[in-house]
Amino acid sequence: MPHLVDYHCHLDLLPDPQRAFADASASGIEMLSVTTTPLAWPRNREFAAGSRNVRIGLGFHPQLVGEKVADIAAFERFAPEARYIGEVGLDAGPRYYRQFADQQRLFQRVLEICANSGPKILSIHSVRAARQVLDLLERYLPASAGTAVMHWFTGSAAEARRAVAFGCFFSINPRMALSKSGASVLREIPLNRLLTESDAPFAEANRGTPSRPGEVQRALDWIAQEKKILPDRARQFIDGNLWALEKRSC
Ligand code: MN
Repeated sequence: MPHLVDYHCHLDLLPDPQRAFADASASGIEMLSVTTTPLAWPRNREFAAGSRNVRIGLGFHPQLVGEKVADIAAFERFAPEARYIGEVGLDAGPRYYRQFADQQRLFQRVLEICANSGPKILSIHSVRAARQVLDLLERYLPASAGTAVMHWFTGSAAEARRAVAFGCFFSINPRMALSKSGASVLREIPLNRLLTESDAPFAEANRGTPSRPGEVQRALDWIAQEKKILPDRARQFIDGNLWALEKRSC
């Protein structure tokens, strides 16, 4: 059986992170557990030590940039030992727009650090800011510095095309199936650039129920439906894409 792939979840934000990492490891699901602050890196490194299937990302979430800009020093210190970077990016939603200029400066710095210590695989947040994220990626992330994986992408079809042309992968969240633009975005992404994700615990599986790590079957079903292939075939593609991505970014 091809592996299931959950390429964006937050194991360290679950109620019992140690247990969450142990369960994730035992599940055999290929996972990327991202972090939201670089200060969480040492602890996550310990949680994931020895796991064959759980990767961890060094992150700096755009929603936290506001009062934490100085933590970029910690990000820079840990970057050389991190193969995966995330969650990073930009958020122009109404709650975070005030800090948008700071976010852009910080994301640029993150990309410069990656370019100096790459290649990396980056899991990218781009809420209402796909254009600005792509502007910065195109300018500051040369191909030798790594590959960007757009997480829960909600940009337009044209922006999806631009990201595909730049070489991005996309981790597909089942919630994208509910948005109007979701299907038109998915149509623009070739099968060989697709991954799946749960964004656990943030994407609600059902109303009020947090998504669980590894919960990617609905994303697979949606991809299969839109791409007119069987779910097992989608699973096979995504497992293959994971290894292709990791091979080319090392
Ligand atoms: Mn997330």
